[in-house]
Amino acid sequence: MKDMHNDNDPQFRRDVTMYRELACHWIAQEREARRTQLHIGAAQYSNDPLPRAFPFGHFTMTETIRWLDDVRRHNHQATLVFRGLPNVTNGTSWAPFVWQLYSGEVILGHVELDARLFFDPEPLLSWDADFVLESMMQSLSQGRQLRVSSRIEEGFPQNVQVFEIRTFDNGLLRELGRRYIHKRVCSICHRALPPTGPQQCLYH
Ligand SMILES: [Zn+2]
Repeated sequence: MKDMHNDNDPQFRRDVTMYRELACHWIAQEREARRTQLHIGAAQYSNDPLPRAFPFGHFTMTETIRWLDDVRRHNHQATLVFRGLPNVTNGTSWAPFVWQLYSGEVILGHVELDARLFFDPEPLLSWDADFVLESMMQSLSQGRQLRVSSRIEEGFPQNVQVFEIRTFDNGLLRELGRRYIHKRVCSICHRALPPTGPQQCLYH
């Protein structure tokens, strides 16, 4: 797929910006429709506008948007695709959950969730449909690929787990929360680990 940053063609960049705005609007609408359904009540919940597998299964949603170019009076059409990839795609259950929104070959938004956070038996935050929709809107509006994970601050007698959303170049976008955790270290390099997950860093 085409990288969303390394293209210097100004028209291409304008198009990508516009497609991101369209996609952000689409996801905001889905989010609002879902909230309305939840508000109406569980009886009508089968009318959830999102696919049954959303957000943690394998799903694909598409939206075709048509508009008229005011200047050149041309009709335009774009198909946006929002898909979710469960965390088993590369054969290990600790691979991240991945959501992508793209049009053609261009990735417009990308969000990953560290599976160790998802499988935490006592999660600090609810990793739910609304969180995924909100995170995708952030990725689209920031024009950045995002990763939801945690880092460990070592302390005594307990460590602190800090939940964060970061860009792929490691810029901090938002801290989501923090909590005390029991100490647990990697069996290979002895770095501090989050409470859930294998007994070693994911990158070994
Ligand atoms: Zn390690």
